[in-house]
Amino acid sequence: MRIEVRNLSKAFSGVPVVRDVSFTVEEGQLVALLGPSGGGKSTILRIVAGLEDPDAGSVTLGDRRVERVPARERGIGFVFQHYALFPHMTVADNIGFGLKVRKQPPGEVARRVEEMIALVGLQGLGERYPHELSGGQRQRVALARALAPSPRVLLLDEPFGAVDAKVRHDLRTWLRRLHDNVGVTSVFVTHDQSEALEIADRVIIVHHGRIEQNDTPEGIWRGPANAFVAEFVGATNRIAGRVAGDEIDAGFLRHPRPAGLEDGAPVLVLARPAEVMLHPVGEDESPARVHRISFVGHSMKVEVEVPGHGTLTAEIPPAVVRAKELVPGRPVRVTLSAAQIFPSDTTPPGTITTAARRQGRLSSLFSRLRRARA
Ligand code: ADP
Ligand code: MG
Repeated sequence: MRIEVRNLSKAFSGVPVVRDVSFTVEEGQLVALLGPSGGGKSTILRIVAGLEDPDAGSVTLGDRRVERVPARERGIGFVFQHYALFPHMTVADNIGFGLKVRKQPPGEVARRVEEMIALVGLQGLGERYPHELSGGQRQRVALARALAPSPRVLLLDEPFGAVDAKVRHDLRTWLRRLHDNVGVTSVFVTHDQSEALEIADRVIIVHHGRIEQNDTPEGIWRGPANAFVAEFVGATNRIAGRVAGDEIDAGFLRHPRPAGLEDGAPVLVLARPAEVMLHPVGEDESPARVHRISFVGHSMKVEVEVPGHGTLTAEIPPAVVRAKELVPGRPVRVTLSAAQIFPSDTTPPGTITTAARRQGRLSSLFSRLRRARA
């Protein structure tokens, strides 16, 4: 069922945490609310669920305004990290709980529970208790419990927050497949960029109670709307520059100028480590020097020191590092295969600042996605 949120606002003790938020989730979509902790994601989800009242704005499910409809009458299933399974009930009883509350006949409950157990792949575990399951299995039970009453909308708040990284990764792929099978309109909250980009149809970036961008994963990745989004999805090299003719001049590097910027305007150049290209040159041809090389799994992390400017991080395949004979101390010219460029007003050209992000996982994710689509 389509979800439409219009001009939603909410303050706690006078502090605004949701500010004029509007978005639409089309029937059958899986949409992620992504952003740093404290940005208002859970509050938005709780307002849609009916667990919190908005100060202003509307929530429409299908063609029905629901701001004044109690949570239990909205036809919504929830999976919240802290909405744990009932520890004293078996898996089957947990899954059947919502159906019993709705006074469904026992035979019907048993049939639906079996169906849900099969759907989430937990055949044979119906009589187990939650403490006899792994973290990943428990989250699947939570999902089965939410889906059993056939909700028209499913809301998930950091559903995999409590499980370890490997299981979390398996669960997200599994969730996407489950969503494709069931087709229920879903919104999930996460602070994990790669999780959102990998499984959502659309990603809504929420920061300080506002929507910074609402786009497809690829749209967010290729065309971040502003510097905040660019950095949040992995552009960790920030280089101050200035528009000069048909180029951006950042002192030690140049980059083609995008349209729509005035000559001489100060800009911020944001580049992901995988977009930083290094070219060995002679001693006096560039101030930049390879500083340190470390192994980060599928690629090498190469730190480049630019005296008086700062340090850039590049991610380069091991074979390229060998072929170009990149070693500490080597002078290199720096170019960018791609970059995001935003107007800026502060730092002098060439100044590099970095923000630590899990860049490697994201770039490998996107190369996998590209291969999968090719
Ligand atoms: P997120 O899910 O993006 O981490 P939240 O929606 O949980 O963000 O919180 C946004 C802000 O609202 C935070 O500063 C949080 O402390 C505050 N907040 C959330 N719920 C309440 C509440 N019930 N009472 C007071 N403050 C709250
Ligand atoms: Mg939250």
